[in-house]
Amino acid sequence: MSEAIQAPTRLLIGGKWVDGKEGTFDVLDPSTGSAIASVARAGLPDMTAAIDAAAAAQPAWAAAAPRERSAILRKAFDLMIDQAADMAYLMSLEMGKSLEDSKAEVLYAAEFLRWYSEEAVRVGGELRMSPTGQNRIITFKKPSGVALLLTPWNFPAAMATRKLGPALAAGCSVVLKPAEDTPLTALVLARILTEAGVPDGVVNVVTTEQPGPIVEHALGDDRVRKLSFTGSTRVGAILLKQAADRIVDSSMELGGNNAFIVCADADLDAALDGAMVAKMRNGGQACTAANRFLVEEPVAEEFARRLAERMGALKMGPGTVEGTQLGPMINARQRDGIADKVSRSVAAGARAILGGSVPDGAGFYYPATVLLDVPRDCAVATEEIFGPVAPIIATSSDDDAIALANSSTMGLTGFVYTRDLARGLRICERLEVGMVGLNRGLVSDPAAPFGGVKHSGLGREGGFEGIEEYLETTYVAGTW
Ligand code: NAD
Repeated sequence: MSEAIQAPTRLLIGGKWVDGKEGTFDVLDPSTGSAIASVARAGLPDMTAAIDAAAAAQPAWAAAAPRERSAILRKAFDLMIDQAADMAYLMSLEMGKSLEDSKAEVLYAAEFLRWYSEEAVRVGGELRMSPTGQNRIITFKKPSGVALLLTPWNFPAAMATRKLGPALAAGCSVVLKPAEDTPLTALVLARILTEAGVPDGVVNVVTTEQPGPIVEHALGDDRVRKLSFTGSTRVGAILLKQAADRIVDSSMELGGNNAFIVCADADLDAALDGAMVAKMRNGGQACTAANRFLVEEPVAEEFARRLAERMGALKMGPGTVEGTQLGPMINARQRDGIADKVSRSVAAGARAILGGSVPDGAGFYYPATVLLDVPRDCAVATEEIFGPVAPIIATSSDDDAIALANSSTMGLTGFVYTRDLARGLRICERLEVGMVGLNRGLVSDPAAPFGGVKHSGLGREGGFEGIEEYLETTYVAGTW
């Protein structure tokens, strides 16, 4: 690994950096396809050791003063901000996103540590009179216990801190298993938390490129009481079945098929600005990315033409190079999946007015692509694209757009652009999603509840709600 990176490459178990029982695996630079680091490959005994360490550390961490947990998280926030430039570079290197996107992610990710350092001291309970008047109802909150945190590659820092922040604030010890494509960022985060004073065993990190067996092994261990997963709906469903056997409390942040609705009365300049963020942030590899643009017929052509101009002007290249606006996709499989969805959609009648084919050369690049005349039942309209492809579908009315938006089994995010606020709010209310951007192309905010409905997930991360996912309620019926 290059000196410039200096990320840990071993497992963190019980406060010690240790080798994996199954050797190592390579982490690739997606802009070249070449290896940039060899990272420890954990086996089942490593996962057991991580759970042993987390279980041993759990009681003292749960009993630590909330202010102590808060101060450690706040210190971790400060350290992360100090190291923001190096972390951003590392993320662009292992994940491929532009430096601009990486810098924004580091700040966003760090904010979860600060927000939950503030929430750690605000966990409450309640005391009220039973309606019968015969007893008091007292509730208090306790940490869920050892939490297994599984994160995806697309936001390697933020998806980890969005779980670590509330889990640690609540008093849970954790085993974090990051995605195989981007383990280095998670390992740097673990080092930051260690430097901030997290006691040995409270944060453990286990890496592998064969996640199935060790995750199933962990979910078979009675000491794991909480699962928090961010990733695909397909894997989420597998994990929920595994969690069911031992009734493990599960939070799921899964995929999306997000509609970006543009009404004919919208401020088109603002809608295009929002579309660029909603579609092109992270190269379209975001669960909240606009997947389908549902544009009211009178403005559909103009919107498509102007969006193609904006997307076509983006500079594609390695994420680590200053000035790059669209980096490579994470790996060959993802890139080929995008290409396949586009070619199936074109075969079904969609017309590419920008991009639409994989460029020659090294790296996992897919170009900015705009599709017009998109059939409502084709691949790009019905499946999560996870890439820089904008399908545009003309709609006849709000009812038409809402029915089409809600026809998906997914329900993560929606976007609505209109100058008529009442109309916009009416559409927001009728969308079957967990989050809506109203005249705004970005919904993610550490202080807001993030999550989806239908096949997009269970539970919420961030905001006041996020810490509740790591707390259990005990109720006492008291008479005095
Ligand atoms: P993925 O489901 O392939 O992987 C996610 C995590 O699960 C990784 O850590 C991976 O190692 C692990 N994993 C994979 N197969 C597993 C198995 N059989 N058993 C146990 N663990 C397994 O998803 P991905 O490709 O890394 O991420 C992209 C997906 O994540 C997209 O669908 C995207 O929408 C979703 N996502 C959702 C959110 C959200 O907050 N809702 C945020 C980011 C990404």
